[in-house]
Order: sequence, then structure tokens, then C-alpha cells
Amino acid sequence: MNLSSRTIAILIALLVAGVLTAYAHFGPMLPFREAFLAAGITVAACFLLVYLSFEALIFREINGIYAGLEHIKRKEFKRLSNKFLFRPEPVKRVRDEILLMAERRQQELDELVRLQALRREFLADVSHELKTPLFAAQGFVHTILDDEDDEIDLATRRKFLSKAAASLDTLDALVQDLVTIAQLEKGVVRMRRQRFDLVALVREIFELLEQQAARRGTALELFPPNLPETGLQVVADRNRIRQVLVNLVDNAIKYGREQGRVVVGLVESGRSVRISVRDDGAGIAPEHQSRIFERFYRIDKSRSRESGGSGLGLAISKHIVEAHKSSIRVKSTIGEGTTLEFKLSKPKSGNISPRDK
Ligand code: ADP
Repeated sequence: MNLSSRTIAILIALLVAGVLTAYAHFGPMLPFREAFLAAGITVAACFLLVYLSFEALIFREINGIYAGLEHIKRKEFKRLSNKFLFRPEPVKRVRDEILLMAERRQQELDELVRLQALRREFLADVSHELKTPLFAAQGFVHTILDDEDDEIDLATRRKFLSKAAASLDTLDALVQDLVTIAQLEKGVVRMRRQRFDLVALVREIFELLEQQAARRGTALELFPPNLPETGLQVVADRNRIRQVLVNLVDNAIKYGREQGRVVVGLVESGRSVRISVRDDGAGIAPEHQSRIFERFYRIDKSRSRESGGSGLGLAISKHIVEAHKSSIRVKSTIGEGTTLEFKLSKPKSGNISPRDK
């Protein structure tokens, strides 16, 4: 039962008054009116006495604890709530406050434990990813250095050296991706928003990945085929969006069907343009769909690494798209293919400056 100080004071006052009135009534035979008056005065006096002592003694202490709690909250830049100090039922309020703070602390602790586990996992992943190309390059170089009797012919030496170089290139790309992701996560990378034509950018990317697509017999297509001559203007960081699209189209070629199609869709929707990259590959099972944006997450570890990806491409893409106040979504059906899409804003006015053409 929750009893406030006021209720306790009233109860005690009534009790004392009851006893005194009974005594006054039955003892010296006071008339009823006087007995009633005496009872009223006793109630009021007892109430004030008990209530004020409660307020003065206990509640001052409680208010002290409150003030302490408020101080802690203020340090956390939480909303000030001085009015709490003078609310009724302060014991209940203090208990609620303490429970609330304990709950918040527990949530923070859980989050810290989760982050710690993620950090450990990330470090293990990074060292594993770095070790693979490093050991490969080291192996080739040492094989040549250890060949003191020149048993390895020149052509084989060249082959070993070019393999070592390829491994070092992979290592370089990985380190660069790691630096990019660290900067994006720290929020130190600023997006340089500019107006540019998406159609021209997609054509540029198709040219870049032409040979890679040809090797798998993949057709690269733009949708709709009859895009406006003037292009499709958006406002975003062109280089960063280029990085995202290269990664998405590259993945679509890598994980798409051989002799298949990769379609980049550019569709205007309200004040933005929806950009989608669709392939007709094996698709991604629902349980993997949200995880592919995690650093180093690969569905088929051996196959993905074989294809030369760092496993950071989608994590970087997600950060870049989010830095444009948009989000990247995946839609996929096993056996049918995968679509990754995001939106970019169109410029405010519809005019196209000559610079953008
Ligand atoms: P990777 O360098 O391994 O390609 P990404 O971050 O680009 O790294 O992709 C993460 C993982 O998501 C890939 O290893 C692959 O398993 C999966 N994935 C990405 N795109 C596709 C796609 N279009 N179809 C099927 N799986 C994909």
C-alpha cells in the first residue's frame, strides 16, 4: 500500500483525536458539541504536527537524494526537472527515478558488451583478412630469395613476383577500404554535394566494368531505355555515389548468372530519383539480407574471397548512402536474383546549368 505523508498524518491525527475525544466524552462528561470541537482541534493540531515533522525530517533527506539524482541527470545533459523536488509522494518518485536510472545503466552496459564483442570480432576479421594476402606475397618473395642456386628460371620468377604484386595490391585495396570505413564511421568525411547527371555516371561505370562483364557474358543495361536526352540530375557527392554504384554493379556481375543481365534502373519518384541495380543471380536468403551490409560479412566465404572482394564494399556503400540522408535496401528472391536500391534528391529547381550537361 502506498501511503503519502499526508495520509499518514491524517490517520495518526484521527487516531489521537479519537482516543482523546472518547476520553473527554466519557471521562469528565463533556457535552457533545464541546467534545466534537475538541476532536476537531485535536485532529488539526495532530495533523499539522505530524505532517510538518514528516516534511521537515524525512522529506528533506529525500529531496537531498533527489537533488543528487538531478545533478547526475544534468551531467548527462538530460532535461532538467526541478519540479520533481516538490511533487507529492516523493518516496515513490525517488524509487521510480532510481529504477529508471538503473534500467538505463543496464541498457548502456548491454550496449557496451555488444560493442565490445563486435570490436573483438572486427579485429579478428581484420587480422585474418590482412594475413591472407600478406602471407601470400611473403611466400612468393621468400621463395625467390631462398633460391640461392638459381634453380628457378626467369619466367617462373616473374610469375611469382607478379603474384606477390597482385597480393600486395589486394592488401593495399583492403587497407584503403578500412581507412575509408573508419573515416565514414567517425563522421569526418564530408559529402561534397554537387549537381550531376546520373545517366552519364552510369554509362561511365558500364564502360569501366565492360570487360569484367564480358568475361562472364553479362549484359549491362539501363532502365528505362529511353531516358531523357538531358539526363537525370541529382544533388549528391558524385565521387562517392560513383564508388557505391561501381560496387553494386560489380557485385551484380560477380554474383549474377553467367550470360545474365544486370539492369541499372533510374526512376524519378517525387522529389528524388530511385536508383536500383538488379541481377538475375542465385539471390540472397532472407536471413542474410540484413547482414550483407556488415563489415566482412560474406554469404559464401570461399567464393566471395575468390572473386577478389574485400567484404567491405556494401558496408562502405551503406555509410555513403546514409550520409546522403537516404537508405539502401535489398530485395531478393532465391533463384531469381537480387535488387539493391536507394534514392537521391533531385535539384530544387528543374533548370539545368550548362556545367551539368
Ligand atoms: P564482397 O567484397 O565480398 O563482394 P560486399 O560487401 O560487396 O563484399 O558484399 C558482401 C556479401 O554480400 C558478398 O560477399 C556476397 O556474399 C553478398 N552479395 C553482395 N551483392 C550480392 C548480389 N548482388 N547477389 C548475391 N549476393 C550478394
